[in-house]
Amino acid sequence: MKGDPEGVYPGKRGSILIDDVLTRKGRTDIFIDSRGIIGAVGEGVSRRYRNEADLLLPGKDCIAIPGLVNTHTHAAMTLLRGYADDMPLEDWLSQKIWPLEANLTGQDVYWGTRLACLEMIRSGTIAFSDMYFFMDEAARAVAESGLRAVLSYGFIDLFDADRREREMKATIDLVTGIRSLDNPKVRPALGPHAVYTVSEESLRWLADYSAREGIPVHIHLCETEKECADAVRQWGKRPVQILDACGILTRNTVAAHCCWLDRVECMLLGRRGVVVSHNPASNMKLAVNRAMPYHWLKESGVSVTLGTDGSASNNNLDLFEEMKTAALLQKFAWNSPTLLPAGEALMMATEAGARALGTGNGTLAPGQPGDIVLLDRNAVCNTPMHNLDSNIVYSCSGAAVRTVICQGDILMKDRFIPWEAETIRGASAAAADLVRRCSDSMHKH
Ligand SMILES: [Zn+2]
Repeated sequence: MKGDPEGVYPGKRGSILIDDVLTRKGRTDIFIDSRGIIGAVGEGVSRRYRNEADLLLPGKDCIAIPGLVNTHTHAAMTLLRGYADDMPLEDWLSQKIWPLEANLTGQDVYWGTRLACLEMIRSGTIAFSDMYFFMDEAARAVAESGLRAVLSYGFIDLFDADRREREMKATIDLVTGIRSLDNPKVRPALGPHAVYTVSEESLRWLADYSAREGIPVHIHLCETEKECADAVRQWGKRPVQILDACGILTRNTVAAHCCWLDRVECMLLGRRGVVVSHNPASNMKLAVNRAMPYHWLKESGVSVTLGTDGSASNNNLDLFEEMKTAALLQKFAWNSPTLLPAGEALMMATEAGARALGTGNGTLAPGQPGDIVLLDRNAVCNTPMHNLDSNIVYSCSGAAVRTVICQGDILMKDRFIPWEAETIRGASAAAADLVRRCSDSMHKH
């Protein structure tokens, strides 16, 4: 044990020993090597690695779980948190969200994403899949935070040929830009927004680009009944049929929402290997009027993950809340108290999410990335401890998170993050300035 004289190690890379910590499989020791990989787990590991470890984290008062994974968000929308709530989806978008987004700058996206990263670390998330604009600025914020992210530019051509050219260029530029960062934690994805905003020509181009270069696809699918009905009216096909005809439905695709899938569509997604991102809080808030059919997706073998969606429609990025909301919504909507039990909700946020974003298998096993979250064992939400899964999903919130480790980098230690205060200041100022610019531009017109 070489010691930790300052007592604080955020962002420091070195080998870590977590001693005598409670996990889903009982008490154990965990050693993370200096590459950030879990080297050993089990009793006696502490004895073996005590002298070698750069840092010892006593685990006696902690619970260790794999880091949580958020498979659908628009991180910079943290700046829009609480700006407009309790409105119909169409009005909310057209009167509030889009006018504000029209004034968005790269600087705003930087501060909004930075705020999102801060919030995710504080609530135990270690990786996320993001779709938005000015994604080079989002990548900068993510890289500074030490989190993992899959970043996609929100491709919207509105069926216009000139616009398509611009969106294709923006997409290629982002892929090239992120690859040039050469940061293994930050990877590109393709982000066709949805069938009602992206033409078939573009969908085909994106499917081809994805297949050629092995780049994942991130898309919204069957969020509302209107989306499905409009597609049938305009093109005589449902959204799933359109995407399948264009080659978008593959193992490399994560489809968000999926509320209005029918049973046959769930089976098709299963055959194609598409991963679904369940976004229960957003779906309930915007009243999409149907819960994602988890039981059909499960019987079809579809891997279902969890996402928060953006902060304007949630209004936070806390995956603990999302696990609970998912478990409750599924039970309530499908009238089944046994549907989506706590252990399955936790698997969605860890194992399924990690596999979907290609960051290991989301377990605390040797050879897996050192992506570990330590919870407060003595918190009220963990007292008493009859059932660990139940406490994590139904009782805890992100406030129970003490320490966050991502690929062996300590991003938060005992709830301390060195760049927190500066981020709160910068994001507050950016949000205020964005609203001011938006109201100025409206008065001009
Ligand atoms: Zn979304």
